[in-house]
This record gives sequence, C-alpha cells and structure tokens, in this order.
Amino acid sequence: MLSSAEIKRAALTVGFDACGVAPAGALTDEEYPLRQWLAKGWHGGLDYMERNVDKRMDPRQLLPGARSVICCVSAYPPPETAGGVAAYARTREYHKVVKNMLFALREQLGIEGKCCCDTVPISDKHWATRAGLGWIGRHTLLVTERWGSWVNLGEIVTIEECDVYDTPLPSGCTDCNLCVEACPNHAIGDKMIDVRRCTAYYTTHHQRELPPEVDAHGYTQGCDICQLACPYNR
Ligand code: SF4
Ligand code: SF4
Repeated sequence: MLSSAEIKRAALTVGFDACGVAPAGALTDEEYPLRQWLAKGWHGGLDYMERNVDKRMDPRQLLPGARSVICCVSAYPPPETAGGVAAYARTREYHKVVKNMLFALREQLGIEGKCCCDTVPISDKHWATRAGLGWIGRHTLLVTERWGSWVNLGEIVTIEECDVYDTPLPSGCTDCNLCVEACPNHAIGDKMIDVRRCTAYYTTHHQRELPPEVDAHGYTQGCDICQLACPYNR
C-alpha cells in the first residue's frame, strides 16, 4: 500500500511542483467527451486520436490491473509577449525532463508502473483533474489555481493501491467565458475544440497550410490567445 503523503513528498524531491493521486477507473463521456469530439470530426486530421480510444478513456486498458494514477504537475514560465512561438511550444523539449522526473519518482517509490508523458494514450489533463490538481477550463486545458494553465503534466499508472486518494476540485470557471470570446477563430465549442479552426493545429505538431479563414493573429507556432485571456493565468 502506497502512502499518499510519501508520494507527494517524493514528487517534490524529484522536481515536480505538485502531485495528486486518483484511483484508476473509466472516465465518463461527460468528463472527457472524446467520442463526441471524434463523431463531430473536430479532430480534423489527428487520426491517431481515433486509435486506442478504450485506453484513453480507461488506464486499466493501458495497464491491466492498474489501481492508481499518480499525476504530476511541472509549471513553466508564462509568455512575456503575445505572438510568435506559443509558451507551450517553447517548452516542448521539456517533455523529456518530465519523463525523466517520472522515472526518478518511480524508482524512488520502488514501484512498477507505466510512466506517461506525451506519447502514451492517456488524457493527462483529465487525470490531473481526477487527482484534484485543477479543472478543465472552457478552452479544454487543465487550469490550476496556482499556475493557471502554464503547466506540463505526467503520470505514473500503477497496480499499487494508495492509502488516500485525492478528489476533484469544483470548476473555477463559474460564469466566465473569456477564453471562448477571445479566440479569433471561434474554435472553442462545448467543452471541445474544433481543431480545424485552431491555429495550434496547423502550426504546432505538424506544419499544415493555414486556411485563409483561420487567423493566426501573429503566431508562427501554437497560439496562446485563449490562455492569455484567462484570469487564472494573470
Ligand atoms: S489556441 Fe488560439 S486558435 Fe486555438 S482555440 Fe485557443 S485562441 Fe483559438
Ligand atoms: S478564461 Fe474563464 S472560462 Fe476560460 S478557462 Fe479561464 S476561467 Fe475558465
């Protein structure tokens, strides 16, 4: 049986800024409307999202017998200026750092488990929500009280049980709609992004030709506009 207090202490020791633990289980369609998003075709050419839907919705499909998801947050600096390269894209190399910190945490805890960062089919932000680290904002990113959405995430999925599990926080979005209103391309829908209208889709992972109706607003890689509008990011 893992100690929640010990996990969190160890996570800070290896360099994470925050950590929470959730019991492994299935996400609901309401929490993570992946199937609805795919059915609408809002994933555009992100064909890989059509694969491993069962694993994305339930980490027990990723690691049979999984009992706990240890979720870790690593905050990164907010952008100093708008435009150009988005803050997230500037920290892309940071995934390697997060992965190494996950390996170090796993070793320190002496457990077996799957370290997940970026390439594993699991939804980081929904597990961070389950682990009480923040909530899903209307722009569909994780929002933390302390660092807003300027965070990278990683998880260890393990068969170990934990003595105490964290519980999700209530949404802090209340009646705010600033990110939705700020998007120059009206890409943010009902808890989903229509990537075909989103600048980041064309300029972050794969360079795709920007259609004339998508306004990049001075961004050459990614886009921070909806995040910059968020009160938790100020
Ligand atoms: S990243 Fe930019 S284009 Fe995409 S939803 Fe946010 S504001 Fe809109
Ligand atoms: S801008 Fe408002 S609605 Fe959007 S994520 Fe931030 S708090 Fe939530």
